[in-house]
Amino acid sequence: MPIYDYACRRCGEMFELLVLKNTVLECPSCHGKDLEQQLVTDFAVSSESTRQSHLQKARERHKNSKDVKDKRVAEAEEIREHAQE
Ligand SMILES: [Zn+2]
Repeated sequence: MPIYDYACRRCGEMFELLVLKNTVLECPSCHGKDLEQQLVTDFAVSSESTRQSHLQKARERHKNSKDVKDKRVAEAEEIREHAQE
């Protein structure tokens, strides 16, 4: 989806806007229409770092879920041991 970074020349507000066919380019703060589209490279850099942090979060989640699984396995083994007694 085409999300662009804009800066408002009137009040200096910076915001991201999802630009569709019927989107009105307008500052969410002062409703001014004198906007400056930010460089696409800035967006690329920020999305890259966002992707990296998402990846890291996914890895952490994976690690946590593995811990939970190990705990479950350990519990199951403990139950089995008790059952044999
Ligand atoms: Zn503004």
